[in-house]
Amino acid sequence: MEGARILILEDDPFEAEELQLSLTERGYHVVSVVDNAKDCMEQIRGGEIDLIIIDIVLEGDLDGIDIAEMVSRFYNTPFIYLTAHDSDELLTRAEKTRPVAYLLKPYRIKELDFLIRAGLERWKLEQRLQREKAKAEADLWQLATHDPLTQLPNRDLFINRLERSIRKARRANTHIGLLFIDLDHFKEINDSFGHFVGDQILQSVARHLEEHTRADDTVARLGGDEFTVIIDELDDFQNIGIFGQKLIDSFNKPFSAGKLQFTLNTSIGISLYPEDGTNPATLLRNADAAMYRAKAEGRSNFQFYTADMTERAKARVHIESELRVALEEKQFVLHFQPQINIETNQVIGAEALIRWHHPEKGLVPPLEFIPIAEKTGQIVAIGKWVLETACTKLALWQQQGIYPGKISVNLSQRQISRPAFVDMIRDVLQKTQCDPNCLELEITESLLISNPERIERELQELRDLGFSIAIDDFGTGYSSLGYLKKFPINRLKIDRTFIRDIPEDSNDQAISRAIIALSSSLDLEVIAEGVENDAQKQFLRENGCLMAQGFYYSKPLPEQEFLKYLEEHSSE
Ligand code: C2E
Ligand code: MG
Ligand code: MG
Repeated sequence: MEGARILILEDDPFEAEELQLSLTERGYHVVSVVDNAKDCMEQIRGGEIDLIIIDIVLEGDLDGIDIAEMVSRFYNTPFIYLTAHDSDELLTRAEKTRPVAYLLKPYRIKELDFLIRAGLERWKLEQRLQREKAKAEADLWQLATHDPLTQLPNRDLFINRLERSIRKARRANTHIGLLFIDLDHFKEINDSFGHFVGDQILQSVARHLEEHTRADDTVARLGGDEFTVIIDELDDFQNIGIFGQKLIDSFNKPFSAGKLQFTLNTSIGISLYPEDGTNPATLLRNADAAMYRAKAEGRSNFQFYTADMTERAKARVHIESELRVALEEKQFVLHFQPQINIETNQVIGAEALIRWHHPEKGLVPPLEFIPIAEKTGQIVAIGKWVLETACTKLALWQQQGIYPGKISVNLSQRQISRPAFVDMIRDVLQKTQCDPNCLELEITESLLISNPERIERELQELRDLGFSIAIDDFGTGYSSLGYLKKFPINRLKIDRTFIRDIPEDSNDQAISRAIIALSSSLDLEVIAEGVENDAQKQFLRENGCLMAQGFYYSKPLPEQEFLKYLEEHSSE
């Protein structure tokens, strides 16, 4: 090999120089001469070395064979041994390290030159064979585990992956969703247009499914027009219904095969681990059975294995799609729940609470749709509407000389984690010309922990604008004293679960007292939520919490009723 780059490991400087000279004369490039393991490794790491010529007997603890062993553990570089010691023991040791040659001194340079050329040729050939073998093995694996038409995992690999997912889920105590997807009327395409067209469609469907799932989800083709998707780490089974519905909707666009275009529909059956089965065979059978029910239900829909799950998931998908029009159709309204000074009975403010006037179901309480809107992201638009509406009302009331005190608005975590959150609030203020000093924003404890630096900065910006900040449902989260001190907060709202069983429950009494003491030591205001009776009011008064909100005073009221309440309870 002309110009091969050679590293010499030799501790006799005279021999090294002689060798270097004769190699250079013969057209080799001697990269360096080293005499110990460390330098040898460094040279190999630093540059492309084609061959190492190693003198076996070296000064020091390690001989050339030891160093060669070390090198081959990290690098794939061929080497030749040179030695003046003709011992059987050395030869046996050397052989085990698989050198390309072994040469006894004194040798003629012609011999060495021949061994280098022949050795490197053979080495290159071996390397190529190894690469080809590895590729052939990989091809074989791909062939054995993937569907040749779509390149998706085949049934065997799918079962294997599902087993793995089940093991993981069992250990982590999580859930898995298995979707069984069947194309509706695919057989007709095959029969009318031939298998070539059918195959093209299956390939497009495979790509489509891959695009509409997360990278970690396994999409597989079981055969024919049947596909499966494994969804790991499912946090809420209803989400899988939403996912299934999205998948069905995504089939709304036509699939093409050459110049032909086809509209396809899918029916999806869903089984859940561990509810519907704890092994691959059962989960698959149950997802398959659910898919047949989906077909029987008129196709283009999804079914869970158990009817009850289907119903719940569909109700949720339903709410999600109805929520999409609720804003446009102005189906939301705000109610206002007065907040009261316990001692004077005066209204000191109100909490704005959203209500949904559903065209068929009537008034839907927020707990039935806010969590869904949070999951789907619709809360961002809904939350903006709440803020805008509260600000508009407040500005209007002020124009009319009505001063209800501070109006508080609930913010959800998803809203605040948007990058442009504070800008959104500024826009609303600008648009409605509302005075932020009359507004309080309620956030939850978990929000403070999620991204403390950013939240602290944003809360400070909101405070600088004039808003007050309250921690809602206080006591149910995880915030520590340290956290509370760190953030610019004005008020704690004692969660109503701690008020509910007062005066009977002494634990709740102790917790409420602790929260009141905490707020006083941190110089924060404190208000109790969910006050329903006189005993609770007395307890709060005795313990120094002088603000309350709850049915004892008033339920959340529609705007006009709230204004009437305000008039009846104003200070004059
Ligand atoms: P929250 O912010 O803790 O609101 C207080 C809830 O307690 C309200 O329920 C209110 O009607 C209820 N409540 C008030 N006094 C009493 C009482 O004496 N006894 C009992 N049992 N309940 C009382 P609501 O209106 O159903 O709201 C529930 C939750 O929905 C709210 O809890 C809040 O987390 C969320 N929510 C409501 N409106 C909005 C909104 O505009 N945006 C966001 N992001 N969340 C909202
Ligand atoms: Mg609240
Ligand atoms: Mg609350």
